[in-house]
Amino acid sequence: MSIIRVALDKPLNTLFDYLGPAGVTEQDIGCRVFVPFGKSRMTGVIMEVASYSDISPDKIKQAGQVFRDVPPLPPELLDLFRFCSEYYHHPLGEVVMNGLPIRLRGSQPFFIRTAPIVFQYRLTTKGRAVDISAIPGRSIAKRRLLVKLKESGMIEDGEAKQFSSRTSEAMKEFVGLQWVEEIPLAPPVVSTSPSQETSPLPVLTPAQKNAIDAIVPKMGEFHTWLLHGVTGSGKTEIYLQLISLLLRQARQTLVLVPEINLTPQLELIFRARFPGVRLVSLHSGLNPTERAEGWVQAQHGEAEIILGTRLAVFTPLPRLGMIIVDEEHDLSFKQQEGLRYSARDVAVFRAKRAGIPIVLGSATPSLETYYNAITGRYLLLRLPSRAPDNASLPTVQYIDIGKIKTQEGFSPPVIAALEKGLASNQQSLVFINRRGYAPILLCRACGWTALCHRCSSRLVVHLREKKLRCHHCGHQAEFPSLCPECGNQDIAPFGHGTQRIEAALTRLFPDARIARIDRDSTRRKDSWQRILKDIREQRVDILVGTQILAKGHDFPNLSLVSILNSDASLFSTDFRASERLFAQLMQVAGRAGRSGTPGEVLIQTRFPDHPLYRALYQHDYDALARILLEERKTAHFPPFVYQALLRAEAPAIATTLAFLAKAATLAKAPHQIKVFDPVPAQMARLKGMERAYLLVQSRSRKKLQEFLGNWRTKLDSLPSHKVRWTLDIDPLEF
Ligand code: ADP
Ligand code: ZN
Ligand code: ZN
Repeated sequence: MSIIRVALDKPLNTLFDYLGPAGVTEQDIGCRVFVPFGKSRMTGVIMEVASYSDISPDKIKQAGQVFRDVPPLPPELLDLFRFCSEYYHHPLGEVVMNGLPIRLRGSQPFFIRTAPIVFQYRLTTKGRAVDISAIPGRSIAKRRLLVKLKESGMIEDGEAKQFSSRTSEAMKEFVGLQWVEEIPLAPPVVSTSPSQETSPLPVLTPAQKNAIDAIVPKMGEFHTWLLHGVTGSGKTEIYLQLISLLLRQARQTLVLVPEINLTPQLELIFRARFPGVRLVSLHSGLNPTERAEGWVQAQHGEAEIILGTRLAVFTPLPRLGMIIVDEEHDLSFKQQEGLRYSARDVAVFRAKRAGIPIVLGSATPSLETYYNAITGRYLLLRLPSRAPDNASLPTVQYIDIGKIKTQEGFSPPVIAALEKGLASNQQSLVFINRRGYAPILLCRACGWTALCHRCSSRLVVHLREKKLRCHHCGHQAEFPSLCPECGNQDIAPFGHGTQRIEAALTRLFPDARIARIDRDSTRRKDSWQRILKDIREQRVDILVGTQILAKGHDFPNLSLVSILNSDASLFSTDFRASERLFAQLMQVAGRAGRSGTPGEVLIQTRFPDHPLYRALYQHDYDALARILLEERKTAHFPPFVYQALLRAEAPAIATTLAFLAKAATLAKAPHQIKVFDPVPAQMARLKGMERAYLLVQSRSRKKLQEFLGNWRTKLDSLPSHKVRWTLDIDPLEF
């Protein structure tokens, strides 16, 4: 009788032993299995098959069905899960189940649809006999559908869907009433054109050629390449040529991007260059079935290019030949809840195990990556200028708003530049990294401001909806008519958000076509893609938006970028704030002047001489990186040390701090490990929970890992009534 050891989605760092069903063998490692757990049943993954168990024979439970619907997870993937569990000190079962598409975590086997089934709907004799007037007048969709069916006798799926969403419901009802017969049609034959590259390839710039010549001879080995190329330097072309090489060797490429919004653009580029190549996109915008299908196609080795957001790093890829992480500096690669992994770092580990290259691309690499590159752990490739005919980088100018008065947030030079853009039919972008109308609602008499009662944050004014909103927990409140403190009526929005800037622009330039791009305006599915299309097709003159605009988009007709208000981050207590601000500004500035037209960047600031702004002026990432690295070295911050946080939260701050203090006494810091005192988190109160953390750091990653391993076991046995805690390795937020 075989014992199986199963990974289950439970917060316990152990595998669970069961009696395997008859015939279970080592071949079944990596298969999903349905098992009893407590009073319920759940799906897990067989990690080991053994001949003994510590559980006594009369206690051990019998496992249920082993799913053989999809191939077992390959050993490399199980290895990757084990690595993540160990490195992030997170229960293995949660890591494994988190890595599977939702459809594969359920209790039902999953069968992939080969092609969507197309139906034809035919009116039956019963349906033919129905009198149109028998359908109530309100049911317009039903009446229309019935008329249409009577006219033509039958309708095909595609045609039916063109009417409206109501039509599908009406059709279902007709099928139920037996007025209509549903007939599946044979799936269409998919033409499998051999992969061929169309349109002539661009002549590579010397820097592009250099990069490709460096990587190609080392394609069969593990190396982490940092492709540090200014915005518009043609990093994508390098990805394309490397992918093309792998396609010819029938190997798969995994391409990770920080955001789902970036997938359609890259997907188009890939499909245009490689028609006929099977590409799957894996991101959170797909429904669970689509996601599982893409995943299974990747697992079968059918998909040749796998394009996805961070979770895609856990896709089984039998013929993986290379990993690309585009915009590697982006924070979205780090998951901020549950298993707090960095998809970029996991990807590097994965490439190393697989003995394949990984390419990290960015105009503004994270300091961690940059440091690895200049010290030789990673291989550095630079693309110092823009690709098409050496297009120049935009000029940067500062407007000292300590000296010049602004009007509704705009200084005269910015207004003049926007005017010039409109007159010459060039697009402009106004960057303000704050959505809503105004960040503060203020009483001018007593200084009261509207605060969220569940978070340590201010409520943001959303004027159009006449609401106050917390951007951290979603709490919504009505607009008070009087100050709740002093009864004064003179309460007003203070400061600027995207909506207010949009309103000001409408007043300043009544004829301009203005598009606001922030999380509110792009919330609805596809709305961002629609706005992008409008921008490309020149139906927008001025774009107003947040950092969504800073991410990797190519706007060919944009020549002016104005940055209104970014000084606040210069003096943040977060040691990463400067790095992030610089990256963000460099990325936004990089949207200007990408094809032909020279770009111009105007920055309103009170500190035009700040070193960060000076480096930006010269487009000199390295200059700033050197300054920041020097600071980090002196202050003992990453990348010179490795950090981990014990995060805790409880309804009362005293409970949280007491727990952390206990945890600190368990730590008994060994040599080379520094354990700091517990402190409240930057966002001390969130969704009604009081949050604090304990920072642990070391110069040695190995020592830190050893320490965390021991500590975690002790933490597990610490009473933690009312406290939720978690370890965050290589934290990015405090
Ligand atoms: P990055 O990702 O580095 O910001 P992109 O890859 O988006 O830059 O390239 C910017 C623009 O330059 C794109 O429109 C691209 O088609 C074009 N491009 C890239 N390489 C070349 C080349 N060798 N010659 C001409 N145009 C190029
Ligand atoms: Zn007041
Ligand atoms: Zn809140």
